[in-house]
Amino acid sequence: MIRDHEIAQLIQHEDQRQRSGLELIASENYVSEQVMAAAGSILTNKYAEGLPGKRYYGGCEWVDRVEQIAIDRLCQLFGATWANVQPHSGAQANAAVMLAALQPGDAILGFDLSHGGHLTHGSPVNFSGKLYKPHFYGVEEESGLIDWEKVAIKAHEVRPKLIICGASAYSRDWNYARLRQIADEVGSLLMADISHPSGLIATGLLNHPFPHCHIVTSTTHKTLRGPRGGIIMMSKDFPNPMGIVNPKGELRSMSSLLDSGVFPGTQGGPLEHIIAAKAIAFGEALEPAYHKYTRQVKANALALALSMTQRGYQIISGGTDNHLMLINLRNKSCTGKAAELALGKAHITINKNMVPFDTASPMITSGIRLGTPAITSRGLKESHMDQIAEWIDRAILGHDNDAALKSIGQEVCALMEPLPLFVA
Ligand SMILES: *Cc1c(COP(=O)(O)O)cnc(C)c1O
Repeated sequence: MIRDHEIAQLIQHEDQRQRSGLELIASENYVSEQVMAAAGSILTNKYAEGLPGKRYYGGCEWVDRVEQIAIDRLCQLFGATWANVQPHSGAQANAAVMLAALQPGDAILGFDLSHGGHLTHGSPVNFSGKLYKPHFYGVEEESGLIDWEKVAIKAHEVRPKLIICGASAYSRDWNYARLRQIADEVGSLLMADISHPSGLIATGLLNHPFPHCHIVTSTTHKTLRGPRGGIIMMSKDFPNPMGIVNPKGELRSMSSLLDSGVFPGTQGGPLEHIIAAKAIAFGEALEPAYHKYTRQVKANALALALSMTQRGYQIISGGTDNHLMLINLRNKSCTGKAAELALGKAHITINKNMVPFDTASPMITSGIRLGTPAITSRGLKESHMDQIAEWIDRAILGHDNDAALKSIGQEVCALMEPLPLFVA
């Protein structure tokens, strides 16, 4: 119960916004009541620097057990043998890996941000592009697909210490096996950042990065449907290939370097209330109901992509294998920015997005990204997707017509308001 009136009112407004709107931001989702309750629990009061059983503070006996359960469930979910559940976010997880695996100035090779990659994979405005020497691979202009042989050529050319795969706006699957061959050829570590599709991977709907990728990072709040946070995993520990030794002169394990990369490398005390919420979410993801959910997420994305295509929208790569799609609006005389604004007025939340080889600026963009994780949590099925495509199309075609947008918004609210936020 929040007694601070100003904040309570604003949370109430946000609650109403979430209930009445259509949430198509591909990186968002709705968590269960129990995940939310843990995130708001008294565990927030506890300092627990270190790891379960090896803390720098007293009184950690209960949070130790919470964190160990989170680690064990996560390992079970992805077939990992080692995990760290402390990163405060996906960006923090990636920072910890890079601090552990790289020296400043080392070359890294990631997926181009403007083709669907992430800021933390080497963007010049991010630590990853400032501290390390970033190189990029992208998609082919014709197909919208990554050509793995071009990644190989690039890797041989720039000899990275770390190859990063994974994206924020790529609707196709990844060839982790081929990427591992490439990494081995150039003597690089391979990291997959599965922040977006992690839930679909955990339930077997997409290729698994293990055992091919040395290290896997993810967020926990996207398709995984947990609290906001990050994780790092390995299928198998190994002696670090960088030659870093402990005071006794022994090679340190990669896991110990990754743990140190999180704390004390890039974070202080872990958020044990969030770790408790992660443990609950991982437990939920191990249940059959969650498999049903991820299958529906994928089915909904396929149906939405088909309905958008039928209305003349150009989907980058021609379709989707996962939960999202990137749409090029150049043939619709509407920028990404204008579409985001218009759809917002119609209570449909999306984000503008650069499309590969975009000529518009990142603040304008030529595209939008749509995703189905959140609307699937609210219970929507394939049968709703054509109606959604019709609303999006009407809003984009009438993006200057406020009356038309308002009337779409009323139709959206009529469908969404009665639905619960979270259906298991
Ligand atoms: C969302 C995302 C992140 C960052 O997650 P935050 O929790 O916002 O820091 C990192 N990598 C990829 C690929 C993402 O999609």
